[in-house]
Amino acid sequence: MSCVSLFLYNRFSQKKEVFSPINPEKITMYVCGPTVYGPIHIGNGRSIVVFDALFRVLRYLFPEVVYVRNITDVDDKINAEAQKLGIPINELTKNTIAQFHQDINKLHVLPVSVEPKATCHISHMIEIIKKLLDKGVAYLSNGHVLFDVLKDPFYGSLSGAHKEEILAGARVEVAPYKRNPQDFVLWKPAIEDHEFWPSPWGNGRPGWHTECSAMSLEYLGTTFDIHGGGADLLFPHHENENAQTRNALGVEHPVKHWVHNGMLMVEGQKMSKSLGNVLLLKDVLAQFPGSVVRWALLSSHYRHTLDWNSSLLHQATQCMEHVNRVLELPWDGKHCLDADFLAYLCDDLNTPGALNALHLLAKRALQDQKWVSSVHTCANFLGIQKISSSLTLEISKEIEDLIKERTQAREEKNFQRADELRQKLEDFGIIIQDTPQGTLWQ
Ligand SMILES: [Zn+2]
Repeated sequence: MSCVSLFLYNRFSQKKEVFSPINPEKITMYVCGPTVYGPIHIGNGRSIVVFDALFRVLRYLFPEVVYVRNITDVDDKINAEAQKLGIPINELTKNTIAQFHQDINKLHVLPVSVEPKATCHISHMIEIIKKLLDKGVAYLSNGHVLFDVLKDPFYGSLSGAHKEEILAGARVEVAPYKRNPQDFVLWKPAIEDHEFWPSPWGNGRPGWHTECSAMSLEYLGTTFDIHGGGADLLFPHHENENAQTRNALGVEHPVKHWVHNGMLMVEGQKMSKSLGNVLLLKDVLAQFPGSVVRWALLSSHYRHTLDWNSSLLHQATQCMEHVNRVLELPWDGKHCLDADFLAYLCDDLNTPGALNALHLLAKRALQDQKWVSSVHTCANFLGIQKISSSLTLEISKEIEDLIKERTQAREEKNFQRADELRQKLEDFGIIIQDTPQGTLWQ
């Protein structure tokens, strides 16, 4: 174990805390994984990469880390998509899981310790629901089993959502079988043509929140160190998961640290189907190497909103250029983890600070060979790998084309267009200088 302390923001206390594990010999972490109805988008990719970075830090600091990231393979969206495509549900989920693995491998995401599928844990979910019914915090209604939110005095303690607000919230689906509109479904009855399982309450399928309670309990026990996911999961998913686990197991705090990554916006807008701006990770990876996408995803602090815009990947490419040049140099294989780099990562996973430290190390290494092993070690640590120099050439060509277009616009006295192009180049992090010999850029 390292003597370096890890500081981590805890959503529950809303404070940055020293991470003090339940058992320092074995760290336990659960992260909500994808619902496999289609390829993941870049926002899902951010969450995967953020928790992969945290996993790498934990692995360095502690002797063993059990990292569970589930796959939700039972969901209404999956049923709808399979029906739309006219293929069996298991074919859709199998293909989507394969695509998911292909995408995240390209981002150099490390394999997790366990990747459980919800459909393999239905009996564990039924056990949890039985316990909730026995304790009187759940009830049966019209083939559904529901969690009675009013029976739980601590409901809302994680997300800060108050029962009155939840009640008033338009997001809550009002159904005739609910005692209170804010109650959530633990088990729902089977629908024709949809996958179902037998249960004491008839054939049906579990509610989404129950899956994560069952799988985290199965692999990590009644209390574990870290629960992660995107900020959009805080309410209702994590609030409900927490309420179920607390009540079913009689444990006050099943999770020690709740960690959420911020959202990803595209060109300043929320990603949504209706806006038509959903960026699939596989499409981004078809254009840019995994290391560049990874760099871009880690270039903002994980708790902040990340704006994915046209210049972000180009900036990441520029930043990586020095690092890449060093990674092309021979390395004696000696490990030398830079103290500043590690200190940034241990300060609530400050990846922008760590990437900046790596960038500075690379600049030093290009002057003095003794820093080469530090660059290799730190880049490996964060999953940044050498990219082919043809990509850098490709970007240079794109910049040359923009400069040519700007020169032409200037010659045609179309100064408005020339200014627009200058702005575009500046967005790429390019400084241009007009000289009698032509336009120079750096
Ligand atoms: Zn979950």
